[in-house]
Parts: sequence; C-alpha cells; structure tokens
Amino acid sequence: MSRTYLHEHTTTTAAEAFSDAEVAVLPTGSVEQHGPALPLGTDLLAARAVAETVADRSDAVLLPPIPVGVSAHHRQFDGTLWTDPGTFEAYVADVVASVTEHGVRKAVVVNGHGGNSDALRRAARNLRDERVAFATPWNWWSNLDALVEEELDTSLGHADEVETSVMLAVAGDLVREAALEDAEERGGDSWGKSVRGAPVGFDAIDFTESGAVGSPTEGSREVGEKLFDHAGDDLAALVEWLAEQNLDSLWPRGHR
Ligand SMILES: [Zn+2]
Repeated sequence: MSRTYLHEHTTTTAAEAFSDAEVAVLPTGSVEQHGPALPLGTDLLAARAVAETVADRSDAVLLPPIPVGVSAHHRQFDGTLWTDPGTFEAYVADVVASVTEHGVRKAVVVNGHGGNSDALRRAARNLRDERVAFATPWNWWSNLDALVEEELDTSLGHADEVETSVMLAVAGDLVREAALEDAEERGGDSWGKSVRGAPVGFDAIDFTESGAVGSPTEGSREVGEKLFDHAGDDLAALVEWLAEQNLDSLWPRGHR
C-alpha cells in the first residue's frame, strides 16, 4: 500500500503497516503568514510533500502531519496560528510515545518550520533520556545549503526565493505569482534585525512589511524541484540509516 498516511489505514491494515516498520515519519509544519504570495501552510505543505516521498517504504510508517507550530512571532499578520513551545513539545512527544505502543521506537520528525526546531530538539532529548523513543528532528532544508547557494546564491529565509521555489514545485496552484513583486518590494532584506550582533527585532513585523524577506520573485519551479528531489534523497538515506540502527546503540551513553 503506497502513499498512505496512518490515518488512512484501518486498524486491520495498520497492523500490516506496523509489522515491518522500523521508523515512524512525522511531518510537522506551521500555519503562519508567508507574505502575500505564498500560502499560510507553506511549511506544512513542504514538510508533508517531502515526508510523502518515503511513504511507500515498508520500513517506515507515515504519521498524520501536525499542522500548527511555534509561530507567535508572526501573530500580527492575518491568518497566523500558533501554539506555545511547551505545548508543541509535549504534543509531539506524546504522538511519538503513542507509536511505541505499536512497536516502533525510532522516528524522524520531518519539520518544515524553523521556529519548531528548539521544541523538537527538547522533545527528542527527553524521549531519548527516558528511553521511550529515538526521534531525530530533521528540517527538510538542513542538508541543502550548498544547493541553495549554487542555485539561488542565498541561504534559506522566510517566504523568500527558496520557499517560493519549493512551493511552486509542490503546491504551485496555491502560489499567487502576481503578488510576488509586492512581497519583495515591501519585504525585508533578510531574516531578523540586529544592532552590532544584538537582536533587536523579535517579530517578523519588526523587519518586514509584507511578511517576506529576500527576493521571492527569483523563485522558480525548476529550482524547487531540484531542492525537493535532494530533500527526498536525504530523507530516504536518513530513514534507511535509522532503520538499520540497533536501538541500544542510540540510547544515551553511560558515564565513561
Ligand atoms: Zn516557511
């Protein structure tokens, strides 16, 4: 059965899906402003699309995506939803822990939103310390720096040319291409605002009027497809590596 999320199974077919599974794959995203051209669910849609590339592996189970993340820093923009980081951390940990009941104790959290990262690391660390599960948080763009630099001469920002490219590739019908120019004109140069290295902007609205940064008009579907393919290859390799690991080798080391 290919491209099937856990919530699309019955309890009968879920038993089959779990029988060979070694790794749970959990997409996490955000529902937050991505400027006037990209959908609020950009991070969710990207994480979901990348996670779905491993859905037909028999050693992986694809869990239902967690849509809303840690996004309070976008709250001044219409449509943004957010959760407290502690709530998000506990919720993700609970979902991963519930999967262990069905015999799968290794997971990759395919994350689409940088603001979730700290909470996901804390959840992973606690799950490991308590020997509940080994759940590595993986941002889909984390191994793409060189390719992004080569293709777009930049690094990942927010609602920028990188995210625009990926959205054009995975959810093109949701990109309002006519609004890309406005996104760029009223956007920030890059993510954040600082004085002599000290952060002085904590919300997106402190440094971008449109909600976007960088040069969203330079995004392209072709580049997005390259990034998406690379991310899919990275995830397949990561799942394969994790599936082969003995759980005992993943637990915290004792005092030396
Ligand atoms: Zn985003």
